[in-house]
Amino acid sequence: MRTFDYARADSPEAAVRASGAGVRFIAGGTNLLDLMKLQIETPTKLVDISRLDLAGIEERGDGGLTIGALVPNSDLAADPRVIAKYEVLARALLAGASGQLRNKATTGGNLLQRTRCCYFYDIAARCNKRDPGSGCDARDGFNRILAVLGTSEQCIATHPGDMPVAMRALDATILTLKPDGDRRRISIHDFYRLPGETPEIETVLEPGELITHVELPAPVEGARHLYRKVRDRASYAFALVSVAGVVRVAEGKIASATLAFGGLGPMPWRDEGVEAVLVGEAPGDDAFNAAADALLADARGFGANDFKIPLMRRTLIASLRQLTGIAG
Ligand SMILES: Cc1cc2nc3c(=O)[nH]c(=O)nc-3n(C[C@H](O)[C@H](O)[C@H](O)COP(=O)(O)OP(=O)(O)OC[C@H]3O[C@@H](n4cnc5c(N)ncnc54)[C@H](O)[C@@H]3O)c2cc1C
Ligand code: SF4
Repeated sequence: MRTFDYARADSPEAAVRASGAGVRFIAGGTNLLDLMKLQIETPTKLVDISRLDLAGIEERGDGGLTIGALVPNSDLAADPRVIAKYEVLARALLAGASGQLRNKATTGGNLLQRTRCCYFYDIAARCNKRDPGSGCDARDGFNRILAVLGTSEQCIATHPGDMPVAMRALDATILTLKPDGDRRRISIHDFYRLPGETPEIETVLEPGELITHVELPAPVEGARHLYRKVRDRASYAFALVSVAGVVRVAEGKIASATLAFGGLGPMPWRDEGVEAVLVGEAPGDDAFNAAADALLADARGFGANDFKIPLMRRTLIASLRQLTGIAG
């Protein structure tokens, strides 16, 4: 048995002051505790942030929403302002995990959940993300749920989250507090890192940096929202592929489109080239196929996950039909 210290923080400042080598924040614990039980995470100290005053959802004067890092996923999904203005987010949250897990899982923890690659969770397997330099058993192994875009020689894992995919489609900003007291605002588009040579480093967060809030900009008026998740079971399963979309059609043309994708890459995926293909076009399968071509031009499977490429094409086209009102 590995022992560790435990401390409960009473303010964000106290939490970051208590951080250091071997220290982990614990929020809902739904991912971290599993990783500790499997000895994939072996912190020397847990700093419990679950009682911090970061569980509120506030409307801002600019029409946007500020979400505390400790807002449970279930509360965020049930918030009337989220349902009315950010439907894609509510739908993505409800597509994730189970009711019990969503009651515990927090906004900050959800952004930082680790991959579901089975070799990452098997300490007898080679995994560069868990044990840098050891190799990657997934490349020639069981890679059905793994990535087809943004991979590297070192790692082909996917980010498993649903909520972060919606937040990428919504242009969210992540607010943090660093141990030196500095605060940062990080666009979600800059938050996640590709695996490259260092798959163990997944975000631009510095050691001991605490997520305090997530800001959503004012919603796009008149847009349709969608979160479509394809998975092996109807609930309680991670995405094989998913689409988060916010699309506005005006005068028979696509006036604006923001799209993000789950299950495809090591981070919630967004490709503005795909959106550029769509904007200004009349909704229809010609435009939708061109968007799928743009999204998947560089996609590469590793055998068991090859199916994701045609599955993503079909899912994107079906999503765009719904988002543009061609299909109900
Ligand atoms: C069986 C099962 C099924 C699931 N299915 C899905 C699914 O379908 N879709 C989906 O999206 N998710 C799914 N999840 C994942 C779940 O959503 C995450 O475990 C959860 O969101 C993590 O939040 P948490 O608050 O429990 O994080 P914790 O486990 O407490 O923390 C996770 C990580 O984030 C860090 N952290 C937490 N909060 C902060 C903060 N404010 N600042 C800095 N660091 C922080 C912790 O140190 C830790 O490293 C599933 C989980 C399980 C166990
Ligand atoms: S894909 Fe990444 S997480 Fe999975 S075994 Fe390879 S290095 Fe590890």
